[in-house]
Amino acid sequence: MRVGILALQGNVREHATMLRQLKATPVEVKTEEDLDSIESLIIPGGESTTITKLLFEQNLDKKILALHHDGMPILGTCAGAIILAKSVQPNTLKTLNLMDIHITRNDYGRQIQSFEASIQAENTIGKKPLNAIFIRAPVIKKANCTILAQYNNNPVLVQEGNLLATTFHPELANDNRIHKYFLSLI
Ligand code: GLN
Repeated sequence: MRVGILALQGNVREHATMLRQLKATPVEVKTEEDLDSIESLIIPGGESTTITKLLFEQNLDKKILALHHDGMPILGTCAGAIILAKSVQPNTLKTLNLMDIHITRNDYGRQIQSFEASIQAENTIGKKPLNAIFIRAPVIKKANCTILAQYNNNPVLVQEGNLLATTFHPELANDNRIHKYFLSLI
């Protein structure tokens, strides 16, 4: 199974490691051609302003949207979740406008306020709590879709059809259950 990882900026290598553990083949996506051979796509964490700037400059948005329209699942983690959202605060960021969530950037504060938390996800992910790592994370204030995990009463793992978004970094914890679940959506 070939899984694309948008490799414009951000945590690419860690997602690739998770995918290999699950016997999937990671494919770095930098150009439109790179999108040709993949069955699903991960939009990693990083800086959403930088990632979206490059994404739109390189015209990757149209092809990603077309592939998703034809059934390609997408996982967005942290900045990736912001890029999937229909509504972002501050609202200066242009996104892919796919998931019916309202998300606020850097809502826990600065880099130094980054933290880890043990969170209980729905049984579809597994009974054991997840060690969720939040790095300058956004907060999902409203989600008109399935909430699979919450922290402090805010959704941190959400699903809308074959779109999955996390505000934390599942690729940094030593636990591949989120990636495994994502691969099951293909
Ligand atoms: N603060 C970043 C943003 O707003 C997201 C941080 C992350 O992906 N870890 O784009």
